[in-house]
Amino acid sequence: MNIKNSEQNIQSLRLALNGADAVLIGAGAGLSASAGFIYTGERFQKYFKDFALKYGFRDMYSGGFYPFESLEEHWAYWSRYIFINRYMAPPKPGYQKLYELIQNKDYFVLTTNVDHCFQNAGFDKRRLFYTQGDYGLFQCSKPCCQKTYDNESVIREMTAAQGFTANADNTLRLPEGAVPKMTVPPELVPHCPVCGRPMSMNLRADSTFVEDGGWHEATGRYKDFLRKYQSQKMLILELGVGMNTPGIIKYPFWRMTAENPKAIYACVNFGETYVPEEIAKRSVCINADIGEILKH
Ligand SMILES: [Zn+2]
Repeated sequence: MNIKNSEQNIQSLRLALNGADAVLIGAGAGLSASAGFIYTGERFQKYFKDFALKYGFRDMYSGGFYPFESLEEHWAYWSRYIFINRYMAPPKPGYQKLYELIQNKDYFVLTTNVDHCFQNAGFDKRRLFYTQGDYGLFQCSKPCCQKTYDNESVIREMTAAQGFTANADNTLRLPEGAVPKMTVPPELVPHCPVCGRPMSMNLRADSTFVEDGGWHEATGRYKDFLRKYQSQKMLILELGVGMNTPGIIKYPFWRMTAENPKAIYACVNFGETYVPEEIAKRSVCINADIGEILKH
């Protein structure tokens, strides 16, 4: 990385932020990874060593797709996963830093992240649009209606039933020497209160994804924000968005920048920054760890 160039870019980003009427943030997996939500290595071994040994899983994410034989085992795996990636705070303060930077601006956040980090860091929930779902919500597995259900209390019961404890800081722990159970009791397996089918996660993995009332309201608020600032000085800030689903954040952000001559596009990502020629003059690209940039 060219340090001098990077410092100039950080300065450009700061100026764009100060001068902006509004900030539109688009955030992808890279932002949560930079805040310490890592799905492999030490964090994975700490909570999933038993599943790793039994099934050969190497990371949390791929284990989530495994077709477990029983729902009791499925929810043992998923309840740990949800607890540590949704109800536990991320290890590093990247989200709080970001909030401090933009809290006095008119802002809106579009994110493919489903870990709720924005809301936990203090962002106003009416300024957030989680397009791909939320680890904190269940839905009917074969949706009989467009409803979602908060899962926090049952997730806490499921992890407790496996032998984990959670302290006041919401860190999930296993008592010294304890071996966790790899199943939950049958009575904790969640079922749809309407039709009785098993519940599933409210995540956009396939066509069964439920877009509930909250999802539609967020869509409306996002559109209102874009209408209000479509010809204003808007900072369009893309953080940690890769090329897995560029149609949700990246491509629309490029288009909006092209269509609004007063807009500035900024992209911060580790290893992946690119901007089309058409908007290059009004763009700032920073190829670095987002957490490091936010420290400035
Ligand atoms: Zn149902």
